[in-house]
Amino acid sequence: MQGLPSRPADFDLAPFERLDFSSADVHSVVVVGSGPAGLTAALYTGRANLSPVVIQGPEPGGQLITTTDVENYPGFPEGIMGPDMMRKFEEQASRFGADLRYGMVTAVDFSVYPFRLIVDEERPLLAESVIISTGASAKYIGLPNEQRLLGRGVSACATCDGAFFRGVELAIVGGGDTAMEEALFLTRFATKVYVIHRRDELRASKIMAERAMANEKIEFVWNSQVVDVLGETDVEGIALENVRTGEVTQLDVKGLFVAIGHKPNTDVFKGWLPMNDAGYIETVKGSTYTNIPGVFACGDAQDHVYRQAVTAAGTGCMAAIDSERWLAEHEAERAAVAPLAK
Ligand SMILES: Cc1cc2nc3c(=O)[nH]c(=O)nc-3n(C[C@H](O)[C@H](O)[C@H](O)COP(=O)(O)OP(=O)(O)OC[C@H]3O[C@@H](n4cnc5c(N)ncnc54)[C@H](O)[C@@H]3O)c2cc1C
Repeated sequence: MQGLPSRPADFDLAPFERLDFSSADVHSVVVVGSGPAGLTAALYTGRANLSPVVIQGPEPGGQLITTTDVENYPGFPEGIMGPDMMRKFEEQASRFGADLRYGMVTAVDFSVYPFRLIVDEERPLLAESVIISTGASAKYIGLPNEQRLLGRGVSACATCDGAFFRGVELAIVGGGDTAMEEALFLTRFATKVYVIHRRDELRASKIMAERAMANEKIEFVWNSQVVDVLGETDVEGIALENVRTGEVTQLDVKGLFVAIGHKPNTDVFKGWLPMNDAGYIETVKGSTYTNIPGVFACGDAQDHVYRQAVTAAGTGCMAAIDSERWLAEHEAERAAVAPLAK
């Protein structure tokens, strides 16, 4: 197959040598990840008779299984619970022949064709095309009560959850552009938004910082960190520590938004695919093509801008169509390549 990359310099071949790829099945499409992007790619490639295999990863269903109401996915006028929506995605993909498998892709070798993948360090898999949809995980502060109250007042997505907090006071943690953007967005619903920041100056760009500072609903709480989230069933307040004086105070907010960044789940592809500094996979503009022919990327793993279920599903559809067309265009070439399995 033309255009395959050479192995990255620090590539560890040992996991591949330990396994017997000669008896591994060759799949036309392997989808890595089972959030809205991966399951949409599976639905489309399934309906195209490509019998996709989906490696679901550590969070089958993706990020939305950690949330409650989803009110902004088209087609559900009453809203739907995140886990219920993702079950519907799974059912729809399975109906068209997607093979949903537990496990996590722990290594890939894109220098041979069919591509080699290892699941859970022990299961070999061969793929004629790979669709990467491993998402990006929001970073959290790391407090036990923050996790307990996730979806009950704690959120990492103002666009997703801001509208649930009308007429109340909120807090947001962070000092970058995203935090400012989200704080400004939250002022549409909240009576007041406290921006909690560890330092006495922002990392955000001047223009975003000025916009946030000019908004009368936003109040900055400098040199402070959240040390606890309060409330039995829903957020009723947060405990703040002044990092200079050690003084602990309480803010009676009804919601805490965490805007301290995201980490794309792309480590396993490092060295193979171009990524930006934060680890988001770079795709060819207007498509889901990566630099490796036959490897496509979609959803939050390649999108640091929108990060919504509907955009993830949209690019999942694009990846499926891109891979389907690529497989068809290269049919003769693919047949000429003796699969490793033989
Ligand atoms: C609390 C919360 C609430 C949200 N609410 C909304 C909302 O109301 N509306 C909205 O539109 N968006 C919402 N979002 C954002 C939305 O969830 C994401 O934009 C969307 O899930 C991204 O889809 P994805 O398929 O790209 O990735 P994800 O949903 O993150 O799925 C990634 C998948 O990759 C798998 N994976 C990761 N690594 C590997 C690996 N090595 N091998 C195999 N699989 C792997 C995971 O198991 C997972 O299945 C919310 C997000 C959060 C965190």
